Amino acid sequence: MKLLEERIKQDGRVIGTEVLKVDNFLNHQVDPALMEAMGQEFARLFKDEKIDRILTVESSGIAPAVFTALALNVPMVFARKKQSLTLTDDNYVADVYSFTKQETNHIIVDKRFIQAGERILLIDDFLANGQAVQGMLEIAKAAQAEVVGAGIVIEKTFQKGRALLNEQGLKVESLARIQAFEDGKVIFAEA
Ligand code: 5GP
Repeated sequence: MKLLEERIKQDGRVIGTEVLKVDNFLNHQVDPALMEAMGQEFARLFKDEKIDRILTVESSGIAPAVFTALALNVPMVFARKKQSLTLTDDNYVADVYSFTKQETNHIIVDKRFIQAGERILLIDDFLANGQAVQGMLEIAKAAQAEVVGAGIVIEKTFQKGRALLNEQGLKVESLARIQAFEDGKVIFAEA
């Protein structure tokens, strides 16, 4: 998605060789017009699928997920993150190791907000090693829902997330694909 690539070039900040900060349009301050365009693009990419619900993880997945849900006219639910929790039977829970924070969190979805048999589209801001999407897949499986694919805002192709998800037959669509960070610059993968 050209608009997003341009914005990454303009406002993204490369940290070391593996991390991109996009906190002035996605991860802290949010650009609603860009989010709306991304939501429409995800809706276009998954237009052939019947989708009942969007699932994402708080907090940075919420903005693109809301606009995707709006474009598809379906509900959106975000998994909450908790470091410790009292397990109850009311929730689906999965462990997610965070690549950026280097800690394991639980992600939790109330059982009322995913129904068995629903077709679910996963949305997230970044795909790195695939742990966040894997956690959402586990939750969907526990809920006996079917995942139709994952829509990712920014995929880093030099990390192993896509391979992990493709091995499981998951369709993954990314709006921007980054091949490397070199000398503080973003190198995009060829389309
Ligand atoms: P994964 O679970 O695929 O290893 O990592 C994805 C999650 O880690 C995303 O939900 C995102 O919050 C965070 N993340 C991974 N890489 C980056 C990055 O380069 N920049 C930012 N801002 N977050 C990232």
